[in-house]
Amino acid sequence: MHPSISRRDAMKLLGGSALLAAAEFPGGCAPAAETAAAAGLALPGAVKDGKYALPDLPYAYDALAPQYDARTLKIHHTKHHAGYVRGLNASLARLASARKAGDYASVKALSRALAFAGSGHVLHCLFWHSMTPKGAAPPAALADAMAAAFGSVDAGQAHFAAATRAVEGSGWGVLAYEPLADRLIVLQAEKHQNLTLWGAVPLLVADVWEHAYYLQYANDRGAWVDAFMQVANWPLAARRLAAARKALRA
Ligand code: MN
Repeated sequence: MHPSISRRDAMKLLGGSALLAAAEFPGGCAPAAETAAAAGLALPGAVKDGKYALPDLPYAYDALAPQYDARTLKIHHTKHHAGYVRGLNASLARLASARKAGDYASVKALSRALAFAGSGHVLHCLFWHSMTPKGAAPPAALADAMAAAFGSVDAGQAHFAAATRAVEGSGWGVLAYEPLADRLIVLQAEKHQNLTLWGAVPLLVADVWEHAYYLQYANDRGAWVDAFMQVANWPLAARRLAAARKALRA
């Protein structure tokens, strides 16, 4: 690492616009290997001063148009995602109060709220980075993993899009890494927290809650999924796959 840049400063850099550029620093400064692996799965801005926080987007609100218009994106980010951040912090605060009082009468409802809002926060943090202006194709390492798991890149992308379109009610399409078998899988998430496979690491996610697309696409979820696929950030999935393998298969 460059002597003038501390590890803390390096992490700050990683937390900004250089999101998830896990192993690369401008000017030739390279972080320690374990830092790079950890940063590869980090969701920058998701936590500030020990509390969950609304992260900045890695692009301007109008950067994904015409596939995703600025109005829909801004409301989605500043209203809906912000609501999950508030709900997550509030549920943790109420659980702390319950522990302090020794009163667990609400623990079932609070546990549900924690999983719902917490999963909503995680998925939205990842969702913003799952899109990039103009889109970007799968790099070679991800393409190899998709071919191994799904037969081909095209088949994997078609499976992901089909699963996303077919989510029942409000939810998500999820490309994930399953570490037991060291393979990619496609999952659906209902709401934010249901249908999870424990231990799987989400790599790329597409939001198909109505709030994600109704302003721009009305009831045409398929058109929104088609648009998402045009701006999907497959290099992000590749970086997260490499980081997850390093962290979980070492
Ligand atoms: Mn959403």
